[in-house]
Amino acid sequence: MAYDYDDSNIFARILRGEIPNDTVADTEHTLAFRDIRPQAPVHVLVIPKGAYVTYDHFAAAASEVEIVDFTRTVARLCTELGVAPGAGGAGCRLLANCGEDAHQEVPHMHLHILAGKPLGPMLSV
Ligand code: 5GP
Repeated sequence: MAYDYDDSNIFARILRGEIPNDTVADTEHTLAFRDIRPQAPVHVLVIPKGAYVTYDHFAAAASEVEIVDFTRTVARLCTELGVAPGAGGAGCRLLANCGEDAHQEVPHMHLHILAGKPLGPMLSV
């Protein structure tokens, strides 16, 4: 798998504590914090603490412990943020931009949790 991780990216700097963030979850392998430019009333970013560039990189290369920790943190957050459809919430969009065509801005794997209003169609082109 040809992924070169550049540890000068902004999320690596957040993980090293060089830049502040509004943390909403912090586990052994996963950090979640509010997006600095929210595009919905709820806009949280969930990132693994390991050096993964994209979601597919993480899914292929991370350990099972990391993957379970990340996935369960997403589930817990959806409930705690009140957006999980199965827990009375009105729903959310879980979105991961991967690479150039998806306009991934930060080359450290992250999942967006977007919610709090009707989000419209998935893509507008
Ligand atoms: P992408 O386009 O890579 O999927 O999304 C990157 C996201 O990171 C954007 O929504 C952007 O607002 C957010 N972001 C960029 N820099 C920072 C930062 O320093 N702090 C926080 N909390 N979010 C950031």
